[in-house]
Amino acid sequence: MARTLRFVMLVSALLFAGRAIGQDAPEWTNPFPPYRIIGNLYYVGSQGLASYLITTPQGNILINSSLEKSVPLIRDSIEKLGFRFSDTKILLISHAHSDHCAGSAAIKELTGAKYMVMDADVSAIEDGGMLNFGLDSKYNASGASHYQPVKVDRILHDGDQVKLADTVLTAHLTPGHTKGTTTWTMKITDGGMIYNVVIVGSPNVNPGYKLVNNALYPQIASDYERMFRVLKSLPCDIFLGAHGDYYGMEAKYARMKEGGANPFIDPEGYKSYVAEREQAFLTELAKQKQARQ
Ligand SMILES: [Zn+2]
Repeated sequence: MARTLRFVMLVSALLFAGRAIGQDAPEWTNPFPPYRIIGNLYYVGSQGLASYLITTPQGNILINSSLEKSVPLIRDSIEKLGFRFSDTKILLISHAHSDHCAGSAAIKELTGAKYMVMDADVSAIEDGGMLNFGLDSKYNASGASHYQPVKVDRILHDGDQVKLADTVLTAHLTPGHTKGTTTWTMKITDGGMIYNVVIVGSPNVNPGYKLVNNALYPQIASDYERMFRVLKSLPCDIFLGAHGDYYGMEAKYARMKEGGANPFIDPEGYKSYVAEREQAFLTELAKQKQARQ
């Protein structure tokens, strides 16, 4: 009871102290039933913001703290699955935008989890996302979404592994959307089979992103190109991402409830998603180059 009260007070205080995030899409805060995806990997996010729990005998790993107001939802989801929120030992993110990392301050405080972030996103996390490097400097003040600055406990580099018990996650630098956007991979054993899991960090060019002559992020276009090369090189059986709409989460969840083959095993869906997103990037890049001439 005392712990619950402390939780409510802390979350309220953080929400109150938090700067305006702007209008969030309603699906970002709509609760979604938590469920097991495969093996020791679970979905604990909302309808629109994906969070993943990987359970081990030595505690759990959480990927994506989402918004400040997502924290009670994530905690409820973890507890509904029969796990303890306080067993969260490691906190990871997809990238340093508020819809994936603004809840990190509260989660670190409540669970004592170690926060591990890709090197190129660390400055954003530790200054509370004051600059959105994708945007032109003159749009930054209005376009940035700020969050509570948080101290990073371990700085990750491309290819680094995060280990807990028998679970090993690999951090792949897939930059462009942010400088340190991270795609997580792991191998999961289920029913005697080994599956390659890919959790895509974000391949998207947001509205207002400047791919040409971006003073805050001069190498943005070549970083996107690098990111697509990396995504195309990753073996993928289980296709996941920072938002459920990358991989048709809701439709796959509905199919899973009907039984039969696990719909999250979708190597073809992964390939066509990456190809489609690369085309969207190339189209936008060509448009921006054209506009400069
Ligand atoms: Zn983002």
